[in-house]
Amino acid sequence: MVWGVIGLALIVSTAVAVVIRRRGMALDELARGVAALGDGRATRPVRTCVGGRVGRVSRLFDRMAPQLEARIARLEQDRQQLRAVLSGMDEGVIAIDARRRLVFANASADRLFGLDSGSVGRLVAELIRSPHVQAAVETTLFGAAPYQGEITVASREAGLRLSSRVLAVRGSSLSGSPPQGAVLVFHDVTELRRLERMRQDFVANVSHELKTPLASIKAYTETLLDWALHDENVNEKFLHRIEEQADRLNQLILDLLSLARLESGQEVFEHGPLALTPCIEACAESHRGRAEAKNHHYVLDLGPLDDETLVLADEEAVRQILDNLIDNAIKYTQEGGSVRIACRLAGDSVILEVTDSGIGIPREDLARVFERFYRVDKARSRELGGTGLGLSIVKHLVQSIGGSISVNSRVGSGTQFTVNLPRFHPMPQRS
Ligand code: ADP
Repeated sequence: MVWGVIGLALIVSTAVAVVIRRRGMALDELARGVAALGDGRATRPVRTCVGGRVGRVSRLFDRMAPQLEARIARLEQDRQQLRAVLSGMDEGVIAIDARRRLVFANASADRLFGLDSGSVGRLVAELIRSPHVQAAVETTLFGAAPYQGEITVASREAGLRLSSRVLAVRGSSLSGSPPQGAVLVFHDVTELRRLERMRQDFVANVSHELKTPLASIKAYTETLLDWALHDENVNEKFLHRIEEQADRLNQLILDLLSLARLESGQEVFEHGPLALTPCIEACAESHRGRAEAKNHHYVLDLGPLDDETLVLADEEAVRQILDNLIDNAIKYTQEGGSVRIACRLAGDSVILEVTDSGIGIPREDLARVFERFYRVDKARSRELGGTGLGLSIVKHLVQSIGGSISVNSRVGSGTQFTVNLPRFHPMPQRS
């Protein structure tokens, strides 16, 4: 009897020990599975044959783990996609937390504000030293509605000089009260604003240029109608003035149309192999009369150019380039000065130089003479019949041929315009 009881007790205690061990093992496996899930590693099923609560939890884990893994994988995929989209964006995007520390910046924001991988976690005020950006951050965090505005910041792109950029900013705060952070998007609109300003300036310039001759025409006409029509001392003179101003208007409109067509790409030149020498000779000769009338020492030097020297250009384009440059040289050179048109070859380029001994261009104006309507001396240019558009037309024409133009000048000594055109070599004929 005693032995029976002892035996039963042994059996029961062994069974309890086995159950406890199995549960312990099941709990260990469960702990490993949870840890793997937490670390983002693949989990293994917790295969246990224990019952009770531990068994239920293990089975629940086995059901839940693959679902969680799939969800985590999907989240990771979404995160990667979001990063790819953000890094491909032209706009700079930064995310900050409630303490104004940088949480994320995309590649454009890095470039715009000179950020790098070490910037995350640091205060935005430390990283971007712009009071405008700080104001945008504060208003985004505490404003009632999403922030929208335009700011100007100094920006230095890798190794480049400091430049001022105009940025359109949109800021949205993250949920919570107070908000948990904010996302700000910066769109660089510097070029857009520059073009807008150029367009406004252009419209103002055109209106002004049209207004001046029209006002003259109107004044002379009124004077003629009032009293001067039958006064032979002045009536013819006034009519000549009206004609002059009408010619000026006409030239201005022709230049404007030509420039508009060139800029819009509508001006279709037929750039083909062109022998330069006859074109240059014809152009230079057509101006000789005017140069001689001003007693200019007028020289054409074709240098090494011959009939074989070709460029890929439309004859009309080359004519317009030379016409403008020679016309200016004669216009801005006083009586008895010199105007020289010279040609040379340099590598694979043909170089055309128009040099005069005229009034010259001040150093600070040199870079701007190719701009539309830019004139060093407005009154003098108008008096000489200039529209201020000639050199910008020349620049477009030279570029359309694939060449370049530069200018050198000294006030009182003269000016030299140098046009560089790529030389064209015909394919050797097969015999
Ligand atoms: P414009 O019709 O006034 O001559 P351009 O566009 O041809 O206009 O030239 C722009 C300005 O550049 C001129 O107004 C003049 O001030 C200056 N310029 C151009 N060519 C010369 C030159 N050869 N010598 C001195 N100044 C020049």
